[in-house]
Parts: sequence; structure tokens; C-alpha cells
Amino acid sequence: MERITWDQFFMAQSHLLALRSTCTRLAVGATVVRDKRIIAGGYNGSITGDEHCIEEGCYVVDNHCVRTVHAEMNALLQCAKYGTPTKGADLYVTHFPCLPCTKSIIQAGIERVYYATDYKNNPYAQELFKKAGVEVLHVPFDECKIDFLRNEKLALYIDMLNALRESGMPAEKLLPYEQKVSALFGKIQ
Ligand SMILES: [Zn+2]
Ligand SMILES: [Zn+2]
Repeated sequence: MERITWDQFFMAQSHLLALRSTCTRLAVGATVVRDKRIIAGGYNGSITGDEHCIEEGCYVVDNHCVRTVHAEMNALLQCAKYGTPTKGADLYVTHFPCLPCTKSIIQAGIERVYYATDYKNNPYAQELFKKAGVEVLHVPFDECKIDFLRNEKLALYIDMLNALRESGMPAEKLLPYEQKVSALFGKIQ
């Protein structure tokens, strides 16, 4: 297996954190990194001890769920809680940060923000990042990097495609399946 890059490693960590999210509207994860070390992490969820959206439903005001603390804020607050400086650190986040998170990220002294997915990219947030000299980098997450069964799955798909071919399925009917496998795993032949 190919060695994972640091960017993909920290992005994977943020995507793992997102799996802990308690809000049904969007699952976000964020990781604070300094000198290639994870110093904090967060996901969007209720404050400690409060009900969870996944159990009680979202608390929606003006089309926003107000119950949760956002992933980026939770990661920064973890640093505040345990006395870890955030100045000069990097932040890896699954989605482009909202405006309030953007302001907190800047104010906490984060120097670089890596995000995987565009999400309602707020133009004022983009402007604020630029003004503050915070580097914002789009790093799409490659899910294949953390698929530990990748080779086994690919072998299974290839066996199935071959079985279909041998059973007489015409090439034009087989093609869309081959294309899907190629899209998931890269070139297969
Ligand atoms: Zn919610
Ligand atoms: Zn936010």
C-alpha cells in the first residue's frame, strides 16, 4: 500500500471525527495540527450533556440548527480548555468553514486552513481569510487512502467482471460496470 501523505492523513482524521457528529444536517470534522502533530480535534455536536439532534431532531432557527457547536469551534475550544496554543497552527476541516467559525479561526491565530469540500463558501469569510493572511487550501479527500480492503474489493470486482464476460454479456453492456470500477479504483486494465 502506498504511503499516505500528511495532508491526506490529517484529512482522514477529520473525516473520522465527522463520523462522531450528532447533527443530522451535516457531519463535519476538524483537526488542529502543529509541526505535523495532531493537537486537537472536534466534530459538530451538542454541548456536553445536552440532547443530540440524532435523538431529538435538530433545533432549527432561521433554517440553521442552533443546537450544535461547530467542529472547528469544538477543536479550538478543546485547545482553550486544555491550554494548548493555536497560534501558527494548521486546521484540517472536512467542509469550508462558516462565517462565525472563520472569524474564530482567524482570531485563534491559525495560519493555514485545509478543507476537503466546498460548502456554501461564504464570500465574506473568504475575504476575511485573505485580509488576515490565512492561507486557505482546497485538499479533496481521497477516500481510497483509508480503504483497508481496497485490494480485496478490486480483486472481487475484477473476478465478477470476468465472470460476466465469460457468461456472454456483450461488451457494450459490460462497459458501464467497467467504467464504474475504474472510477472507484483507477485504471483496471
Ligand atoms: Zn442539528
Ligand atoms: Zn461553523
